[in-house]
Amino acid sequence: MTLSFSMKNRLVTPMTGSSPISIVDRDELQTQTDYFRALVKRRSDNLMNYFLIGFFIVGLLLAGYYDTWGIAVGVGGLSLVAYYSVKLLLPASDLYQYVLSATLAIFMAQYIYQLHGLFEMHFFAFIGCAILITYQNWKLQIPLLIIVGLHHGIFNYLQYKGNTDIYFSQLNYLDWQTFAIHILLTTVIVFICGLWAYQLKKSGEIQIAQTVQMAGLQREATVLMERKRNADELEAAWRKAEIALQEAEKARIEAERANRAKSIFLATMSHEIRTPMNGVIGMTSLLAETPLTGQQHAYTETIAACGETLLGVINDILDFSKIESGGMELEEEDFDLQSSIEHILDIFGARAARSGIELLNQVERDVPAFIRGDDLRLRQILTNLVGNAMKFTEQGEIFIGVRVEHGAPDGVLTLGFEVRDTGIGIPADKQERLFKAFSQVDSSTTRKYGGTGLGLAISQQLVRLMGGTIRVESEPGKGSTFYFTIRTRAGVNQEPPIPIDGLAAHAGKKVLIVDDNGTNRTILRTQLEYWNLTPVLAASGVEALDLLAGDERVDLILSDMQMPFMDGIRLAQNIRNRHAHVPIILLSSVGDEYKKNHHQLFSAVMTKPIKQQVLYRHILAGLQHQGRFTVDGRQGPSRLPENLSATFPLDILVAEDNAINQQVIQYILQKIGYTPTIVSNGQEAVDAAAGTSYDIIFMDLQMPEVDGLEATRLIRGDKALHQPVIIALTANTMEGDEEECLLAGMNDYIGKPVKLEELLGKLRKWALHLQHRA
Ligand code: ADP
Repeated sequence: MTLSFSMKNRLVTPMTGSSPISIVDRDELQTQTDYFRALVKRRSDNLMNYFLIGFFIVGLLLAGYYDTWGIAVGVGGLSLVAYYSVKLLLPASDLYQYVLSATLAIFMAQYIYQLHGLFEMHFFAFIGCAILITYQNWKLQIPLLIIVGLHHGIFNYLQYKGNTDIYFSQLNYLDWQTFAIHILLTTVIVFICGLWAYQLKKSGEIQIAQTVQMAGLQREATVLMERKRNADELEAAWRKAEIALQEAEKARIEAERANRAKSIFLATMSHEIRTPMNGVIGMTSLLAETPLTGQQHAYTETIAACGETLLGVINDILDFSKIESGGMELEEEDFDLQSSIEHILDIFGARAARSGIELLNQVERDVPAFIRGDDLRLRQILTNLVGNAMKFTEQGEIFIGVRVEHGAPDGVLTLGFEVRDTGIGIPADKQERLFKAFSQVDSSTTRKYGGTGLGLAISQQLVRLMGGTIRVESEPGKGSTFYFTIRTRAGVNQEPPIPIDGLAAHAGKKVLIVDDNGTNRTILRTQLEYWNLTPVLAASGVEALDLLAGDERVDLILSDMQMPFMDGIRLAQNIRNRHAHVPIILLSSVGDEYKKNHHQLFSAVMTKPIKQQVLYRHILAGLQHQGRFTVDGRQGPSRLPENLSATFPLDILVAEDNAINQQVIQYILQKIGYTPTIVSNGQEAVDAAAGTSYDIIFMDLQMPEVDGLEATRLIRGDKALHQPVIIALTANTMEGDEEECLLAGMNDYIGKPVKLEELLGKLRKWALHLQHRA
């Protein structure tokens, strides 16, 4: 319903003297007035038809009586013709009404003439005046008055002058006084009739205005009622919305409370799980240091591996909830992408070798050596994808590729990563759900592969945080490829990680690449071409021997170890028979112990996955004929540096309430030659620090009586004290914890479970710092 009233079309009309001023729609008033006038005109016209015919008939009757047919038909007929022709020819004009007025006066003159002035036929003029009132137009009286005046004046005069053809009155005299009185009275009657016409018109208009006003008021009332109904409805809706808002607010507060409770629960759980895990992992690494039988060693390794897995699960859950609650923040710093990828290769290299899977990587040339971003989180994504690929691939290869997808003029780079495997693949209908938390393709209770189903969900979230997307293409039985992108920029530091000028002297030299794996051949070829060497490719030992037999001279041979029909060693033996001096580099998998027995065949034996830097070194050495036939094997487990305390004599205090963890750290420190003092809470730590000047305090955070943060504040507050280095030792590894420790005055932070390498690293770092300070 349209509620608008155009103000332009409304006018304030004073109705009658006493009626209140009210608002009337001007357009409507006009329409109604026009309609009313048309009605008056139509009705009056109809009336006139009867009157005029009546007048004409009266003329004819008088003609019959007084034998004036010529006058009756001539004058009466002409008058009617004049009236109707004007009315027909000018229908839109009111002119015919004025003709009518004149006609009525002429009929009067006609009757007077027909009766030879016998009766007072000028009364017909007054009848005419009265008839004309019906048109409600006072001006219509004027022609009648004029014609009556002229007729009386002219005919009276002519008759008086003895004109026998003129009939005006039986009284044959000209008395100006009588004439004036006649005309005056006629004028008065005409005036009164005009006044009536005027009043009639006015009262009609007032009536119309009142009707229109009533209609307006009615409409206004409807609008007001409608408005009121709308306002009521609006208020009801508003009240409803307010209630909904209050409920939403309540729900938000509830959700926030739940979220806080979840975070606290997670922090607590993390703490509670990490504390015993510290015992398990710490004790296991200590156990591994003791003399063990083969079987015991295997058991120890299993415990360590399980501990690490469990820790991985806890970290995954923590990461996931951290991302979910929006608490994950990414670092922004330059890092070397190639070494990040090589780090991944390091993690999975040994496992790939054991299961005979080729682990390959290729970073395309236009990818900057250093990029900006969060190295750790990128590694986390890649570790997860490569870890999955390893888990679900029994044979074949796993390939990690990096290329520039898009480079914007403002320096923003979109890097595309690809992790491709030749594993079991993922059915199309399961691919959608992969990135949902806790979802696995095989969710049966008897499933073969372990996992929480969180890895891809976390990876997707991290990729999103890095401004990219992740997707999968897969075919069951053939393998899967996970693609993801990140938005980054080239790092400020752009030194190439490998100085390639050493090989410049050997530009163009031919290197034979022998590998049954096509991807690996392509990667090696691209790499060698980048170093300006000329690669020659062979897909098998036989093909290589054929090439060499065909007088192909090569300066160096890169050969894979595992190849069908003829492995790397047999190939090398065959080559050595004819080409005694060509350096051969064997690309082998870790754990191939027997390769050491043949190292005289090779200028170098490289373990896969191949790192660019190592390859570069070996090729350079080989081409310079300086290859000292080295074996680049993996190192055995690192042993504890028992002499650390001799290099850095330190007084160490450990504040830790958990008995097992006390033992763990005590054993570790004792193993490297220290005799730490152990206390069980913060207060004891403060007291101990006041008595002895310790160099380093390892401070647990959650302890009874006085916690680690408070104890640190107390120690830092005692200005008389020799200030020790305080390192937090805590299972609280949520975001913000480290900051809190540093704010309390601590120098460093180690998360539980304590890793041997990390502890040793921190000890070395702070011992050096103390030496420097001294
Ligand atoms: P999980 O910890 O269970 O591996 P993810 O989120 O990393 O959790 O993976 C979810 C599921 O996706 C896996 O359980 C597996 O079924 C499937 N999946 C992931 N990567 C691969 C792959 N490369 N090949 C086959 N299936 C895969």
